[in-house]
Amino acid sequence: MAARNEIKEVLGDIFAGKILYDEPMSLHTSLAVGGSADAVVFIENEDQLAQVTGRLREKEIDFYIAGNLTNVIVRDGGYRGAVLLMTGMKEVGCEYTPQDGYVMSALAGAALAKIVSRSVAEELTGLEFCAGIPGSVGGAVWMNAGAYGKEMKDVVKAVSILNTDGEKKTMNREEISFGYRRTSFPVGTIILGAKFKLEKGERSGIKERINDILQSRQAKHPLEFPSAGSVFKNMPGQAAGKLIEDMGLKGMKAGGAQISSKHANFIVNRGNAAAADILGLVELIQIKAKKERGVNLETEVVIIGED
Ligand SMILES: Cc1cc2nc3c(=O)[nH]c(=O)nc-3n(C[C@H](O)[C@H](O)[C@H](O)COP(=O)(O)OP(=O)(O)OC[C@H]3O[C@@H](n4cnc5c(N)ncnc54)[C@H](O)[C@@H]3O)c2cc1C
Repeated sequence: MAARNEIKEVLGDIFAGKILYDEPMSLHTSLAVGGSADAVVFIENEDQLAQVTGRLREKEIDFYIAGNLTNVIVRDGGYRGAVLLMTGMKEVGCEYTPQDGYVMSALAGAALAKIVSRSVAEELTGLEFCAGIPGSVGGAVWMNAGAYGKEMKDVVKAVSILNTDGEKKTMNREEISFGYRRTSFPVGTIILGAKFKLEKGERSGIKERINDILQSRQAKHPLEFPSAGSVFKNMPGQAAGKLIEDMGLKGMKAGGAQISSKHANFIVNRGNAAAADILGLVELIQIKAKKERGVNLETEVVIIGED
């Protein structure tokens, strides 16, 4: 039985929400590349998530948890199984208690832009560094996203998760190990939401820092083309973009993909790029970095799916 029919049968009687079958992932990834997933399931709440993942696990159907898909490259052969999009779980709230101070809570699918604008509205400081990162809370926590000297680890107070046994748990900041664009959550953990510890600030100052960051991003990043942000992790003391530039690869094209002529650690889709074009450039950079500089360039972007 074709996978789409199997998923239809398995989820049909328990899930009343939106599912798209044989859905091109190029319509959902920020890079605008990627073949079709057997199904894309739009998750709107925790109960749905628990039911859907429980049933898919029971039937041994693969699934992939996604936020805004701004850090993922899906190969041209697409994804066999179901991509569960978390962006429907997006509530954000704030509270103050004498023992915890100012805490913002956000469900995993909430856009970082939403928590940033909420922090302005509440006059809370701490989340300015997220301005301009196009991801969701779940994706940002999972990746320990960061910019301008700060990372999620600096503001996360607690993370609620669904573990692989389908149990809901809350993990405090101290129980999670955060590294450079990585976290220690066991494979298969689903982030349901996070709490952020913020400080009271002044609206004008918060706004100014956000505007400075947005302007700096506008100046440095090729925001006019689809991308997945920085493709490679920086090395200690060495920026990946500078290395790529020094190797003379800035501006190089493959099909519809290009190593950005504005920022060499971005690979952009100049129109009709295939994932293979992007991945061809990724490989070329890695081979050259190894051969000419003895450097193993590790991708920051996550690559999934079939060739
Ligand atoms: C123009 C541009 C600029 C960017 N700038 C930055 C930057 O400055 N700093 C930075 O760190 N990143 C940056 N990024 C990359 C990206 O936006 C971030 O990594 C972001 O946090 C990813 O969030 P997402 O919701 O898009 O995650 P996705 O791309 O959907 O997923 C990323 C990873 O997280 C996992 N994941 C997502 N949601 C969950 C969940 N609820 N539970 C468990 N796992 C989950 C996915 O399985 C995947 O492994 C940029 C991207 C673009 C396009």
